[in-house]
Amino acid sequence: MASIRSVRNTTGEEVVCIACGDTISRSDAREYDKYGDRWDREGKTFEYLCKPCHRDCCHQPRTGLEETLINAGAGETEQPTFLRQYRRLAADSQQTES
Ligand SMILES: [Zn+2]
Repeated sequence: MASIRSVRNTTGEEVVCIACGDTISRSDAREYDKYGDRWDREGKTFEYLCKPCHRDCCHQPRTGLEETLINAGAGETEQPTFLRQYRRLAADSQQTES
């Protein structure tokens, strides 16, 4: 019989943590939905966090952050463009808050 060990011991799907860039198996990842409603799945692609990042990153106050990310085109524009837009939006919101 052929060895079944040639099949990797995961479900095969791997994802990349958006916070630290580690590759983790899909079953170990936490779904991250930038729109904040992970149950409304239609037409969405989810991003993923590994467990340590999910624990570290997702429970801080982040008023306005999601809105800023979406306005900056997170996940929809090239990363340099997104970063430039994000920096501009973040600077704007700091100016209007103070
Ligand atoms: Zn991570």
